[in-house]
Amino acid sequence: RAKADGRGVHRFFESEMDARLQARRALELDLRAAVEMEAFDLHYQPIYDLAAERICGFEALLRWTHPTRGPVSPAEFVPLAEEIGLIVPLGEWVLARACREAASWPDDLKIAVNVSAAQFTSAGLIATVRGALAESGLPARRLELEITESVLLVNGNATVAILHGLRGLGARIAMDDFGTGYSSLSYLRSFPFDKMKIDRCFTRDLTVEEGSGFIVRAVISLASSLGMSTTAEGVETPEQLARLRDEGCDEVQGYLFSPPVPAAALPDLLETWNGSGRRAA
Ligand code: C2E
Ligand code: MG
Ligand code: MG
Ligand code: MG
Repeated sequence: RAKADGRGVHRFFESEMDARLQARRALELDLRAAVEMEAFDLHYQPIYDLAAERICGFEALLRWTHPTRGPVSPAEFVPLAEEIGLIVPLGEWVLARACREAASWPDDLKIAVNVSAAQFTSAGLIATVRGALAESGLPARRLELEITESVLLVNGNATVAILHGLRGLGARIAMDDFGTGYSSLSYLRSFPFDKMKIDRCFTRDLTVEEGSGFIVRAVISLASSLGMSTTAEGVETPEQLARLRDEGCDEVQGYLFSPPVPAAALPDLLETWNGSGRRAA
C-alpha cells in the first residue's frame, strides 16, 4: 500500500511537471510570435531630480499583453526571452522605440533603458545603440543604460570593454538594483558607473528598520566618493522621500510620483510636476 501511494505521489509530481513544462512551452511560442509581430509596448516612469525639484527623465519599461492571459510581468517574460535567445531582437526593439519616443520630448529630459546581461554577449550592442541614436536623432547624452550586476559575472573583461564603448558613444551607464546581486564590489574599480540605483528593498525598509537606513547612507556615500550619482527606486511614501532627501540622494523614482504609464500620459505628468502651476515633492 505504501508502495502504491509512493508511486501515486510520484505520478502526481510528474504530471504537475508536465503541465508546467507545457505552459512554459506555450508561453515560449507566444513570446516568439509576439517578437515577430512586435506586439509589445513601452510604459514610462518618471525620474525626479531632488535638487532641481522636477522630472528629469523617464525609465522605459517593457509591457506585453498576452492575447488570452492578459498582461504578463516583464519579471516573468524577460528571463524567458533571455533563455531562448529572444532578448537580443526584443532589446533592439526597446532601444529603437525608446529613443524615438524620447526624441520628441523637451531636450532636458533623458530616457533610461534597461539592458539585459544577455545583450552583452556580443559587441553588437554598441552598433545597436549607435543605430537607435542615429535613427531617432536623440543626442547620446540623453540616453542612460541600466544594467544589473549579473552583467559583470559572466565575462568581466569583455563586458567592461563594451561598457567603455557605450560610454564612448556618449551614453551614461547606471547600475540597476544595486545591492541585490552576487558580484563583488571590486568591479567598481574596473568600471566607473555614472549612477547607482538603490534597490527598492532598501527604500521599502528605510523608515522601518535601522539597518536599511545605514545601508542607504553607506551606498550614497560610496557612490559619491566614486563620483557617481544615486537614484532610489520604489519610493512610495512621503516619509521615505524625506529620508532620502536628508541622506543626499540625487534622484528618486516610485509610485509616490507615478507608476509607469503609456506615452500618451506624459504631457499631463510633465504639466503637473514641471509646468507652470507645478507641484513639488
Ligand atoms: P527595474 O528595471 O528595476 O524596474 C523597476 C520595477 O519596479 C518596474 O517593474 C516598476 O514598475 C517597479 N516599480 C517602480 N516604482 C515602484 C514602487 O514605488 N513600488 C513598487 N512596488 N514597484 C515599483 P516592472 O515594470 O514590472 O519591471 C520589472 C523588471 O523587468 C525591471 O526591473 C527590469 O529588470 C525588467 N525589465 C523591464 N523592462 C525591460 C526591458 O525593456 N529590457 C530588459 N532587459 N528588462 C526589462
Ligand atoms: Mg531599471
Ligand atoms: Mg531596478
Ligand atoms: Mg528590478
